[in-house]
Amino acid sequence: MKNYAPSRMELAPRDIVSRSIVTECLQGRGGFVDEESGLCYVLLDLRHLGEEKINKRLPMIREIVIKTLGIDPVDEPIPVRPAMHYMMGGVHVDLYGQVMLDEDKTRVPNLWAAGEAANVSVHGANRLGSNSLSECLVWGGRLTGAAAARYAMSAPDSMLDYGGDIATKVANEESRIFDKLLHKEVGAENPYSIREEMNRTMDTYVYVFRDKSGLEEAYSTIKRLRERFPNVRIEDKGRYYNTNLRDVLELDFLLEQAELIIVGALTRTESRGAHYRLDYPKRDDANWLKHTLYFYTTDGPRLSYVPVRITRWKPEERKY
Ligand SMILES: Cc1cc2nc3c(=O)[nH]c(=O)nc-3n(C[C@H](O)[C@H](O)[C@H](O)COP(=O)(O)OP(=O)(O)OC[C@H]3O[C@@H](n4cnc5c(N)ncnc54)[C@H](O)[C@@H]3O)c2cc1C
Repeated sequence: MKNYAPSRMELAPRDIVSRSIVTECLQGRGGFVDEESGLCYVLLDLRHLGEEKINKRLPMIREIVIKTLGIDPVDEPIPVRPAMHYMMGGVHVDLYGQVMLDEDKTRVPNLWAAGEAANVSVHGANRLGSNSLSECLVWGGRLTGAAAARYAMSAPDSMLDYGGDIATKVANEESRIFDKLLHKEVGAENPYSIREEMNRTMDTYVYVFRDKSGLEEAYSTIKRLRERFPNVRIEDKGRYYNTNLRDVLELDFLLEQAELIIVGALTRTESRGAHYRLDYPKRDDANWLKHTLYFYTTDGPRLSYVPVRITRWKPEERKY
């Protein structure tokens, strides 16, 4: 890390650490390849901290590493590699977590989102370590939680009865899931192989480093996978604890998310936080200090942008 962020070392922001790890791997200095997956990794050495400090400051890390890898970080370095573990972005909401139907005016009645599902715009393009806690406390526990509770306590029953158009939409969606997916007699596609190809595509082209040709390749693959999806086969027809059905429903959402992430990344011709374009390595505040939004339409996603609200702290170039 001395070569990448000498003043912060391993404690530099995670997008910088991620790029450093992958650069070492790509330049052949990572040196370690997992036999099963073929993926490259580096080693994180905690041994200099000693057992007492590790137990006091990092007890969970020690426990997880022992349980999952059978390695004790007191004695051995830990294999590490960047993985996605937080969704930066989410449902477009106002300051109180009420879901927005358009860029900045119309709120969806009776619908709030909080936590990782929502985009309240505190994290930008790179959430800092441990900062998702603020979503639990500030939004889940206070602003959004309280607004939703206030509404539920005071709403007349008629407001909670959706009826009409929404009831029809819900019925259509239930029928799509249970009649078209679950009870379909035939289907040539194995959902798990579609998922594997989606994962491989996203890992190869939409990972820590991105560029135009890779993103275009990913886009056409994901489009093809989405075309194959309606023909998936669900083996388990059970009505209880049907993990096969759950996996297929999840895959449907993941494929849609994958496509949106790729289109957003392809359009955003700059690098910002965790979005790093090899062909546009600089942050471009003049053109891109804005949020990417998608709105559902029957003709496909509508791409839009809203400005980032800057108050006291002006964006600066990051230096470590
Ligand atoms: C490995 C890892 C380490 C992390 N470490 C940290 C850290 O050190 N500090 C930090 O601040 N953040 C950390 N994060 C991020 C943080 O844990 C999450 O952002 C946070 O837990 C999200 O909370 P949430 O309540 O918004 O969502 P979740 O905890 O994801 O809760 C959503 C819930 O909704 C349920 N659900 C989903 N779909 C449906 C449905 N259709 N019907 C009903 N229920 C549904 C899910 O089962 C789940 O229980 C970490 C994340 C990971 C993966």
